[in-house]
Amino acid sequence: MTNPPPVIGIVVMQPISYESYMIMKLKTVLAQKRSKYQNIEIVELSEYGKALVLDGLVQSTEVDEYIYHESLVHPAMITHPNPKKVLIVGGGEGATLREVLKHSTVQEAIMVDIDGDVVELCKKYLETLHAGAFENPRAKVIIADGKEYIEKTNEIFDVIILDLTDPYASEIAQELYTAKFYRKVYERLAEDGIMVTQAGSSFYYEEVYDRVLESVKEVFPIVKEYNVWVPSFGYACNFIIGSKKYNPEELTVQEVDRRLNERKVTTKFYSGRTHIALMNLPIYRKSKVR
Ligand code: SAM
Repeated sequence: MTNPPPVIGIVVMQPISYESYMIMKLKTVLAQKRSKYQNIEIVELSEYGKALVLDGLVQSTEVDEYIYHESLVHPAMITHPNPKKVLIVGGGEGATLREVLKHSTVQEAIMVDIDGDVVELCKKYLETLHAGAFENPRAKVIIADGKEYIEKTNEIFDVIILDLTDPYASEIAQELYTAKFYRKVYERLAEDGIMVTQAGSSFYYEEVYDRVLESVKEVFPIVKEYNVWVPSFGYACNFIIGSKKYNPEELTVQEVDRRLNERKVTTKFYSGRTHIALMNLPIYRKSKVR
């Protein structure tokens, strides 16, 4: 076996915890902008293709984004028997919107991201991620703070998907990981509504993760945590579902596949078997050896 080439030249140092970094070879920087809210970079990485980087943290890359976006969207969407109206908070790249729109049941998908500059740069440079989702007649994009939007809107949704920057990253998303916010989310959900949030790493940021989990548990009667390995993140990314009525653990392989087929959803990662696997994975905890 030959050794990989040494890392020389320009690299991206991706923080994966307070103490560790993953080093990725950089091909080129396509765009850079300091917006009102965050530092935005669209780069091309040798191994992962084009990527969105916010405040130095890789948000998604062309090569492995489907693992993250399918895992975020489909378990909640499939657990709901007939999701017609969906809200996405965050999700700047448009890939979460792309996955939601795959469900033929969806009549309207509203995406609310705080940062218009992220959305514009992703539209321009990351077409493989949004795949035209922004132009879909069932999609509506609103540039606003998700917290303010949830507090003001009278709309009711079947599914709410929180695709925000990590709970331990930028300030702008932190209040959207609290029980106070989840109560507002609960109020905007239909009687049988379901929400899901990405929740960063339970391994490297255990205390923050536990606070998020406890906050979801304070509000929702049915709570399910799961995680998936995302290569360009360097860790297993956690997700938490909060549901009013339907339990994602009660679905069978056959029922998940039946709903996917019925709604004409095609995937690269998620399937009936994947659903059951996700519902049965351990949640990583850092060993307290030191
Ligand atoms: N996959 C991601 C990760 O690794 O953390 C998250 C994806 S996404 C790019 C995060 C989005 O959340 C960004 O576009 C950011 O502008 C948006 N965001 C952060 N805080 C927000 C808020 N308060 N309201 C709405 N959108 C917000």
